[in-house]
Amino acid sequence: MKAIRKLKEGPGAEIVDIPAPKAGPHDLLVKVKASAMCKSDVEVFEWTPLVAAAHYALPFTLGHEFAGEVVETGALVKGFAVGDRVAGETHIPCGSCRECRTGNQHICSNNMGVLGRNVDGCFADYIRLPEISAIKLPANADYIQCSLYEPLGTAIHALQKAKPSGAHIAILGTGTIGLMACEAAKAMGASRVFALDISQERLDYSLKVGADAAINGKEKDFVTEIKKHTSQLDAVIDFTGSLRVINQAIDALAIAGRLVQVGMVGGDLIIPNFMYRVVYRELQITGIFGRHMYTTWDILGNLLESGRVKLEHYVGEVMPLKDYKRALERFDQLNGRAVMLPEEE
Ligand SMILES: [Zn+2]
Ligand SMILES: [Zn+2]
Repeated sequence: MKAIRKLKEGPGAEIVDIPAPKAGPHDLLVKVKASAMCKSDVEVFEWTPLVAAAHYALPFTLGHEFAGEVVETGALVKGFAVGDRVAGETHIPCGSCRECRTGNQHICSNNMGVLGRNVDGCFADYIRLPEISAIKLPANADYIQCSLYEPLGTAIHALQKAKPSGAHIAILGTGTIGLMACEAAKAMGASRVFALDISQERLDYSLKVGADAAINGKEKDFVTEIKKHTSQLDAVIDFTGSLRVINQAIDALAIAGRLVQVGMVGGDLIIPNFMYRVVYRELQITGIFGRHMYTTWDILGNLLESGRVKLEHYVGEVMPLKDYKRALERFDQLNGRAVMLPEEE
């Protein structure tokens, strides 16, 4: 089968022919029908310092956002059958460590598998997916749209931590997951949603999918602006990873407000005057890594079934998998994901 593989350290990747994976006793073999390019895949292609520092064993197949059809099930698989449509949870927990046993298996501490990193990913014709990380899709699921389950799950998990019900909430950075967070925040009960970005085009799109106000950080000071809009900003989700933006978020938040960090912070995060700005104001600062298994997936299913969140809003462009370089080039220009289709044989 064809697969996009990282063969050596440094920028780039290759399309190569490798044997299709085999399903172990607890695995599904899934024919990938559509996969999407994530910012973290872009980082693996570019081999950023953050990725290089992880020292992943090479080679591996890239990609982790996908939808496909089960074509084979391992002997011990109980919940899935051939023909099922599935999406994949990127994190593969061990099932037996302390985290796995205390409701945090999505951040398993025992050599957790991560698709497209230390486990072969989905930029290929087939993927081996452990049953524990398979998410069943509706029987009539649209594969292109459902390749976006995983990033929508990230947005929802961040919102679970931000507690949107009744809240005034700001979404900082309106890339695909930030845009999804604007829409899901409203569906999950936020009173008002404010979007911040420096791209006016993305801000305009955020207003279409659910944001009530959009602030262009290039033109306006976020803290001043947010205080014009609301006397109480309850929660912020940061997708930018920018030190400047995160520090602005801290000042924009109401006392006892919540900051949820999703965007990758490359270096050290310095918060000057921490005692007065954070501690005495009892701000809550947390982050997320992946999606909660499986409450996030439950909420996601409900939101999609209700029609209050629509994945079609986030399909930026569809292209053949072999054109993945185009998906990389277009990453910052699209409102939504580049979705790639393996060639039908
Ligand atoms: Zn992703
Ligand atoms: Zn574990």
